[in-house]
Formats: sequence, C-alpha cells, structure tokens
Amino acid sequence: MDTGSPHLRWMEEAMTMAEEALAAGEVPVGCVFVREGSIIARARNRTNELRNATRHAELEAIDSILRDKELTSTISKYPLSNTMLYVTVEPCMMCASALRQMGIKEVYYGCGNDRFGGCGSVLGVNEMLDHPSHPPYRAIGGYLREEAILILRRFYITENTNAPVPKSKANRVLKTEILP
Ligand SMILES: [Zn+2]
Repeated sequence: MDTGSPHLRWMEEAMTMAEEALAAGEVPVGCVFVREGSIIARARNRTNELRNATRHAELEAIDSILRDKELTSTISKYPLSNTMLYVTVEPCMMCASALRQMGIKEVYYGCGNDRFGGCGSVLGVNEMLDHPSHPPYRAIGGYLREEAILILRRFYITENTNAPVPKSKANRVLKTEILP
C-alpha cells in the first residue's frame, strides 16, 4: 500500500460514513464514490433502518448518483466508467456484480469480507469470472484495513446491549490485536 497517496484521504471519508452507520446501529460499512478528483456520493449501510438486505452502502450511493441528473445526464451502458469507489469493507458478491455491470473504473477497500466478499475473498466477481461483455475492474484492498476491522468489532461487541446478555457473550472484550 502506498501511504501518503490520495487513496487514504478518500478512505478516511468512507470511514466517516462507517462511523455514521455505527452510530445509527448499522453494520459499520461506509463508502464514497470519486469522479475527477471529487466525491460525488457518500453513503453507508442502511439495511436495519430500511429492513432491506440490499441496502448496502454501495447500492445506496449508486442510486443517488443515477438519480442525480447532473451526475448522470445521459443514458449510457456504463455510467460509472469514470468513477472510483472507496469502501471500508470489500464489496459483497451482490455489490461487486452491480459495480461490474455499471462499468466501475476501480475499487479500493479496507478489509476483506470472508463471508460474502465478491472481489476475491469468496468469489472474484470483479475480474476472475469471465463475462462476455462487462469489463473486469481492479479491486485493491488494505487501505485503512485495521480501522475497518476495529469498527466492525466495535459493532459486533455492542450489538444487543439492550437485550439480556447471553453467558457466552458476557465476558466479551474488544480485541485490538489484528492478524495479518
Ligand atoms: Zn454489498
């Protein structure tokens, strides 16, 4: 990872959205979309609020970009072809596929997603899978990776704080050690 790169600045912005998700009781994942050096959309996970499992940060942001007539003035096959995504967690298979179908230019993410990762952790939807027309895209992880992991841990350790604490979770402590 090239520290001091502009990628870290954009990832800090994505992390701010993840913090907002955490404060709202959502799995803390945040993202920004960047076009020609500026952020054109910021979003965070809203699956609990909307009771809708498709409301991942990436799809929330894509919806707002496509709705905005200044950002999406013409109908084109690949409306994200000059746009990059910065997201705190590797996009899931659903989002990775949507991003490819919309021609995203590049993706930068924080930590991997062992359960649903669509950019290599579970399936390489971004470039490993051949597709007759949709072009592959590069997805590069490791930007603010430790912060991305720690904020997820903060969520999973505090969720259900209002519910009776099961014995197995009663002595949970926040692990701050991160394995490579
Ligand atoms: Zn997703």
